[in-house]
Amino acid sequence: MVEQIQAALGGNVGLALGYILLAVLASQLVLMAYSAAARVVHERRQQRLDRERLETLVTAAKYRYKEAQEVIHGWNGYRKFKVTQKSSECEDVYSFYLVPHDRKPLPPYKPGQYLTFSLDLPGRDKPVVRCYSLSDSPMRSDFYRVTIKREKAPPDKPELPPGLASGFFSDHVQEGDILNVKAPAGHFYLDMTKTTPICLLAGGVGLTPMLSMAKAVAESGLRRDVWLFFGCRSGPEHMLREDLLKLSAYENIRVVVCYSRPGKSEVKGQDYHHEGRVTVDLLKEKLPSNNYEFFMCGNGAFMKTLNDGLEAWGVPEKDIHYEAFGPATVKKKAAPAVSAVAAGPACKVIFAKSGKELEWNPAQANLLDFALEQGVRIESGCRAGSCGVCSVAIKSGGVDYVKAPDAAPEGGSCLTCICRPKGDLVLDA
Ligand SMILES: Cc1cc2nc3c(=O)[nH]c(=O)nc-3n(C[C@H](O)[C@H](O)[C@H](O)COP(=O)(O)OP(=O)(O)OC[C@H]3O[C@@H](n4cnc5c(N)ncnc54)[C@H](O)[C@@H]3O)c2cc1C
Repeated sequence: MVEQIQAALGGNVGLALGYILLAVLASQLVLMAYSAAARVVHERRQQRLDRERLETLVTAAKYRYKEAQEVIHGWNGYRKFKVTQKSSECEDVYSFYLVPHDRKPLPPYKPGQYLTFSLDLPGRDKPVVRCYSLSDSPMRSDFYRVTIKREKAPPDKPELPPGLASGFFSDHVQEGDILNVKAPAGHFYLDMTKTTPICLLAGGVGLTPMLSMAKAVAESGLRRDVWLFFGCRSGPEHMLREDLLKLSAYENIRVVVCYSRPGKSEVKGQDYHHEGRVTVDLLKEKLPSNNYEFFMCGNGAFMKTLNDGLEAWGVPEKDIHYEAFGPATVKKKAAPAVSAVAAGPACKVIFAKSGKELEWNPAQANLLDFALEQGVRIESGCRAGSCGVCSVAIKSGGVDYVKAPDAAPEGGSCLTCICRPKGDLVLDA
């Protein structure tokens, strides 16, 4: 090569060597500049990762602090709240904004939790107790919001009276009214100290806890991957539109609105995203994998179908969480404690007041669902052993709890939503 350069330079060996030296030096310089630039890029990436890690730690610490505050500021029993705003969200659905009457601070809550209301309804001697999920961001410390759908008589039994509490909220509760409310509670919530990607599945008014979860992630500033699928029949049932729209503006949050029966004037891509129900096939189409924590809330059929589909897709049971607003349809292993309680010997359950003597069905998750399935009406609230509404006196026999009650029931009674018979049982229901 030297000879070639020498020839090109007319035989000048010194000049040729000089050029070679210069070329070597130049390449050294380029190499040094390149590795310096690569080091800077690497350091910047490392700094960004460190910053993100720190942000995650700070957010987790903030949540732990909030949880500690919750213990400090939570209240026992009922507290008076004023309805400061009532807004229509869609056909038969209203949101109620609640501010504590005593103006003292509001404890934060975990996204997914609910409030318990004790309502004095005209013509009823006993208060009616019902639970409603908090539907706004838990970051708001100035008010709570619940969103309530009017419950009509079941389509196959139109002769029955419509829902008591939801009808009362829809028709009678107005701005300025005072309501008795228990502190936020419930075990169905999003753990904000985790960063796992989440997929929220909402059917109808089951959107309420999901919205709170998605908003919590959005406002935390964390870039946690969130998919929110919301299913309803068509536009008139499309509740909380504004909230959903705002959520879809976040880069890490994807909202998919599914109409099962869109109206003629409703436009795909504008009013909704997908025609059909929320199904596991749709999830397979949209999600990059099944590696998500799934949270679902909707009517019985919605939850059963999705739960079965997710299990068939290989989603581990521990990654499927659900909240039932009514009788549980996901009779799995999903109430993990249920499987831990022995099905027990075949036994009889006698509902004394209703005059029914029945064979216990071990497939049932609890005595409340069993009673409702058999046409024995027992009042219920939280369905989680917290509010005490489903408490029934035991005339003889005993029960096993599938989870420990939040507050022990009165002596000689049981919380039917979280217990099963130990053996033959007579209940005062
Ligand atoms: C944790 C939790 C969170 C919840 N969050 C929400 C929420 O965010 N938003 C929301 O809208 N709801 C929510 N719910 C549901 C809510 O608590 C109520 O169950 C719902 O509003 C219906 O209550 P109601 O008093 O209006 O109806 P009820 O009076 O309890 O009636 C319920 C149904 O039973 C029918 N019925 C009436 N009489 C009989 C009879 N004799 N035999 C058989 N059936 C009869 C009624 O027609 C009606 O269809 C939640 C429930 C739980 C457990």
